[in-house]
Amino acid sequence: ILSAAEVTGADGIHPGYGFLSENADFAEQVERSGFKFIGPRSETIRLMGDKVSAKHQMRKSGVPTVPGSDGALPDDPDEILRNARDIGYPVIVKAAAGGGGRGMRVVHNEEVLLSSIEVTQSEAAAAFGSPVVYMEKFLQRPRHVEIQVLADQHGHAISLGERDCSLQRRHQKILEEAPSPLVTSDLRQRMGEAAVNAALSVQYEGAGTVEFLVDDELNFYFMEMNTRIQVEHPVTEQITGYDLIEEQIKVAAGESIADYQVQLTGHSIECRINAEDPDNNFRPSPGKITNLHLPGGHGVRVDTHVYSGYTISPNYDSMIAKIITTDRGRGEAINKMKRALDEFVIEGIKTTIPFHRKLMDNEDYIKGVYTTKFMEENNF
Ligand code: ADP
Repeated sequence: ILSAAEVTGADGIHPGYGFLSENADFAEQVERSGFKFIGPRSETIRLMGDKVSAKHQMRKSGVPTVPGSDGALPDDPDEILRNARDIGYPVIVKAAAGGGGRGMRVVHNEEVLLSSIEVTQSEAAAAFGSPVVYMEKFLQRPRHVEIQVLADQHGHAISLGERDCSLQRRHQKILEEAPSPLVTSDLRQRMGEAAVNAALSVQYEGAGTVEFLVDDELNFYFMEMNTRIQVEHPVTEQITGYDLIEEQIKVAAGESIADYQVQLTGHSIECRINAEDPDNNFRPSPGKITNLHLPGGHGVRVDTHVYSGYTISPNYDSMIAKIITTDRGRGEAINKMKRALDEFVIEGIKTTIPFHRKLMDNEDYIKGVYTTKFMEENNF
């Protein structure tokens, strides 16, 4: 990539949102080779990529965090047990270097705590190259609400509102929407301020996401920061009118965001279409797409790389498309999504389209009452 940048005379390198986008070593090599890395500085990626140091940094800056161990778990088993008693069960053991919903384990009682920690440590070492784990209170039925931030090189940072990503399967998002049906304008204001403080405290640059868990009483707690553009960024683009990729490039080129005014208009929903079989426990379903017809029309956006004749490899992530519908209100956006899902024809593989169709008819989803436990509780 660096050689390609050299021969083409590029000024900067956009890391996409795959594995290079949160790789501090890559960002550092880009910086050292004299190119602009489109994203935050490598030190910021390193700091926020380690969930233990990120949480520590946030606590220092006054951002509320999920109650838990003060940093990585100690070696002394008695201290760990005391720690967990103080936090109160259930607790969740999480890998400092974890991501993608992997490297975490919920523990309901003391008897299995130490063995669960050991298993998580060895899994973390194998998957992420670091056995460091920490522990926090496992919130029983939270919402996952995240704030999109944008920061320039001149000390300005703004919030572009929230996304609700509570609909998850095995801690992995499957549907996202903006605004969140739960968030009031007062909560939006407070979470936005916390996220902007978080960004300013690490001299953040570029687009980033500050993830929070929100409990029943609308208390919110910092969980982690993603220092890249995210899969679900389109819903924010749709309701703010900002093209986030363009903004990433502009701030990397040194432009100021001092006069940006963010207004949220309408409602936007994104369904992740994965090559998985929802009737068979969401088993991956790679293979050749024999026929494809994408939905379209007013307020329907489809982001995808696939085409008729394309073969989905079993070696990569199973997400193959995102359908994003936008309308004046949430109900209209749901109706539009139903139509778009019905119009989507894809043959040769199984996809999560039938699952999303069912979801759009679910009463609780329609009411906007759901938590991260939704899938489990509804036997999807
Ligand atoms: P990753 O980096 O793998 O995405 P996160 O730390 O963002 O991991 O957590 C992913 C999801 O796991 C959250 O959206 C939430 O559903 C669940 N989760 C993580 N921490 C907690 C917690 N303390 N209490 C309840 N659920 C949690």
